Amino acid sequence: MSVDSKTKQEKKTITFMVELYCKKNHKQKEMCSDCKQLLDYALMRIDKCPFKDTKTFCSSCKVHCYQKEKREAIRSVMKFSGPRMLLHHPILAVSHVKDTIKNKKER
Ligand code: SF4
Ligand SMILES: [Zn+2]
Repeated sequence: MSVDSKTKQEKKTITFMVELYCKKNHKQKEMCSDCKQLLDYALMRIDKCPFKDTKTFCSSCKVHCYQKEKREAIRSVMKFSGPRMLLHHPILAVSHVKDTIKNKKER
C-alpha cells in the first residue's frame, strides 16, 4: 500500500470510529464538539506523523505522539468502536487488523 493511501485509510478508519462512538454514546444529531475536536486532533497527528513512510497504524505505534488526555480519549473510542467495526465496516476493520498484526510480527 502506498504511503498516501495508507494515510487516507487511517483517516477514514479513525473518522468512522469517532463517528460511531459519538453516535452511540452522545446521541446527538451531529458529532458533538468534544468528539469533533478529538477527531480533528487525530487527523492532525496523522498528517504530522514522523513514521508516515514506515508505520502502519497508530494502534500499533510504540511512540504514540498523542497528548495524554487525547490518547486516553482515543483509546476509549477504539475500545468501543473497534469490535463494532467488524459489523459496520468489515473491510476497513479487517485490513486494519491485518496491518496491525503484520506490524507486530515485523518488530
Ligand atoms: S501515534 Fe504513532 S503512528 Fe500515530 S501519528 Fe503518532 S507517531 Fe504516528
Ligand atoms: Zn461525541
